[in-house]
Amino acid sequence: MKALVKTTAGPGLELADVPEPTVGPTDVLIEVKQTGICGTDLHIEGWDDWAAGHVTAPLIVGHEFSGVVVQVGQSVTDVAVGDVVSGEGHLVCGRCRNCRAGRRHLCINTRGIGVQLDGAFAEYIAIPSSNVWVHTNPIGFDVAAIFDPFGNAVHTALTFPMLGEDVLVTGAGPIGILAAMVSRHAGARNVAISDLSEPRLELASRLGVSVALDARQHKPQDAYAELGMLEGFDVGLEMSGSPVALRDMIGSMTHGGRIAVLGLPSGEINIDVATVVLNMLTIKGIYGREMFETWYAMSVLLQSGLDISGVITDRFDHTEFEKAFATARSGHGGKVIMSWEK
Ligand SMILES: [Zn+2]
Ligand SMILES: [Zn+2]
Repeated sequence: MKALVKTTAGPGLELADVPEPTVGPTDVLIEVKQTGICGTDLHIEGWDDWAAGHVTAPLIVGHEFSGVVVQVGQSVTDVAVGDVVSGEGHLVCGRCRNCRAGRRHLCINTRGIGVQLDGAFAEYIAIPSSNVWVHTNPIGFDVAAIFDPFGNAVHTALTFPMLGEDVLVTGAGPIGILAAMVSRHAGARNVAISDLSEPRLELASRLGVSVALDARQHKPQDAYAELGMLEGFDVGLEMSGSPVALRDMIGSMTHGGRIAVLGLPSGEINIDVATVVLNMLTIKGIYGREMFETWYAMSVLLQSGLDISGVITDRFDHTEFEKAFATARSGHGGKVIMSWEK
C-alpha cells in the first residue's frame, strides 16, 4: 500500500510502498478516507529537536483520520466491517493506576500513532478496536477526519462551566477556532479570540466569535467595552503556546477566573504568580481527549446543531502532500486535510 513515511532521521517525508499492516485478534483494519495535518506532523516532517528526540525512523506518520472498517480481528465484537470510524490516536496501557480507575486519558504509559507507532497517512491502518470511534449518525469523512483536533477543542472548552460566561481564546489556529465555536454552542455570553494572523482572525469572525483581536495591536482588555464587560474574562482557553498570550490572559481574568491551557510552549514561561494568587485563578493543563467521554460529547454536539465544517479551509490529495504540508505550515488558514479516497 501507499503511505507517507519518515524514512530516515532528517527532514522530509516520502510517499512509499509499504506492506499492509497486520491485524491482531483485537485490532480492526481501516481503509483510510481522509486525514488531517496536525502541528505534530509538521514537527516530524521538519525534523526539529522535539522530533529528533521522540521519533524513530522508519515510521508512517499521521494520526488524524477517518475511514471504513474492512476487516476485524477474531476477538472483536463491538466494531463491524462497513462501520464509518475515526480513531483515538493514544494507545493506553490499561494497567497503570489511572487506566485501572477509568481515567485513560491520564495513562502514564501512553503511546501515539504516527509518533511512536505507525500512523494514518496511509491507505490502511490497523488499530485496537478499543481505540475506534464508530459514527452511528451520518457524518462526512472530512469532518470525521478532524475528530482528533475537534476533541482537543471540546476537551479544553468543556473543562470549566461555560453557560453565560465571558470567554477569551488565545490562538486562532484550527483548534482555537473550534474551541471558540464549542464555547459559543455551550452557552458562553461572549467569546473573544486573539491571534497574530489576519486571515485566521477573519476566519474566526466568519465562524461566529464575538470579537477577533489582533494581538499585535490589542490587549484583551480592549474588548471589554464592546462586549459590555466590567471585571474581566471568566474563562480563558490558551491555545497558542505563546508566553505573551498566557501572560496577557492572566492579566485579564476576573477574580476566580479559570484558565485551561492546551497550547504547548516551546520553552519555560515566566508568569505573574502574585496575580494568580491574589486573584485566585485556576490554571489547568489539558492534553488529548478523555476516552471516551470527549468523543461522546463531540458526536452529540454535532447532532445538536454545531457545524464545524467551516474550519476546514484546504483540501489536497495525498499525492500533493508537499503542497498540503506547506499550506499547513504557512499558519494562515484553517484545517488542512488530505484525501486517500480511491
Ligand atoms: Zn493532531
Ligand atoms: Zn495506563
